[in-house]
Amino acid sequence: MAKVLCVLYDDPVDGYPPPYALDAVPTIDRYPGGQTTPTPERVDFQPGELLGSVSGELGLRRFLEGGGHTFVVTSDKEGPDSTFDGELADAEIVISQPFWPAYLTAERIAKAPKLKLAITAGIGSDHVDLEAAIERGITVAEVTYSNSISVSEHVVMMILSLVRNYIPSYGWVVKGGWNIADCVSRSYDLEGMQVGTVASGRIGSAVLRRLKPFDVGLHYTDRHRLPEEVERELGVTFHPDAESMVPVCDVVTINAPLHPETEHMFNDALIARMKRGAYIVNTARGKICDRDAIVRALESGQLAGYAGDVWYPQPAPPEHPWRSMPHHGMTPHISGSSLSAQARYAAGTREILECWFDDRPIREEYLIVDRGHLAGAGAHAYSVSREGEASEAPASDHA
Ligand code: NDP
Repeated sequence: MAKVLCVLYDDPVDGYPPPYALDAVPTIDRYPGGQTTPTPERVDFQPGELLGSVSGELGLRRFLEGGGHTFVVTSDKEGPDSTFDGELADAEIVISQPFWPAYLTAERIAKAPKLKLAITAGIGSDHVDLEAAIERGITVAEVTYSNSISVSEHVVMMILSLVRNYIPSYGWVVKGGWNIADCVSRSYDLEGMQVGTVASGRIGSAVLRRLKPFDVGLHYTDRHRLPEEVERELGVTFHPDAESMVPVCDVVTINAPLHPETEHMFNDALIARMKRGAYIVNTARGKICDRDAIVRALESGQLAGYAGDVWYPQPAPPEHPWRSMPHHGMTPHISGSSLSAQARYAAGTREILECWFDDRPIREEYLIVDRGHLAGAGAHAYSVSREGEASEAPASDHA
């Protein structure tokens, strides 16, 4: 019987369960492209419930304890005295979400001799040191596609809210004002602007599709080119790299995984190649942008706005400069954790666990690392360096 250690974000401040705004969420059977949504044998929750916080337990307790397994759920994940570190020593399976990542560094993996499976309830396994997982033969799996559309909706929301100056305008209403000139002096139409995505995978291409009706010019760069018919259908222009794409863009959205090739890609040099007054929306990973270069560019006016929901480290400390820099539209890491998305990634986590315990193969598209190699979705989207730089460990873990 396995010990399953699950790290989830804290419950709402007013307690669990929260009152829900909707009675149900729509049922989605297939993603764009035809992949089916998760198909576990059953689930023990109602889609639309809050599953991603500690008391939600991803709806897994009855299933795991019914199978005789030990199930530990905690939000306490930082530092050597954390519950996570304490429980890791004899855990066979770790489940974590990118929104509240339990950083599985090489040091932690070395202290977890029984660890065999690391599941990301969501997408993006860069909080796991993939190099160390490869060396130790640990399987890494994530619930591919479960929240890709959720994130693409967040990207479109953030592009519109930055360009149209929504957040400051809302702020004037809350303050009791009617300051139209103050609101509109940074407000533009998106129509006619040039929008480019760094990466056109599931999220990047969903963003392109959603933006097409806004009559913008669409651009992308990626390691692999989209099929010609898709390029034609979307009217999107390919650029061989970010350096050649950003000078033509008014808005750049980042939708690539964090790995050695993309870490700190948006630094002073790349931002200097952008149009003065361009916008960046980054819902991929915080470390793809150089934190202080973003602040400098907003202060100088080189960037007109920056928004996203990914930070480094997570949770961001109260003094993180992205909380107070000008013209930002940051949220905590929420875009992929809507109640709609939670129903899918909780079901996908259950599907992966059912396969694992029944000794059935995990879907190829869920695999990141398997049998000592990058596998499935991981082989397509990630790279590893000898130093294991794919991991996004918090600074404190390097100390
Ligand atoms: P996909 O794997 O579908 O797409 C990623 C794309 O990035 C692939 O097309 C890949 O190219 C491309 N890519 C990799 N490296 C580079 C590079 N150096 N330059 C340009 N393109 C590159 O992933 P998703 O679209 O589903 O997700 C993308 C990322 O978004 C995730 O890795 C995760 O970090 C983040 N994410 C954030 C969430 C949130 O809640 N904010 C939720 C879900 C994901 P190729 O095909 O050539 O390998």
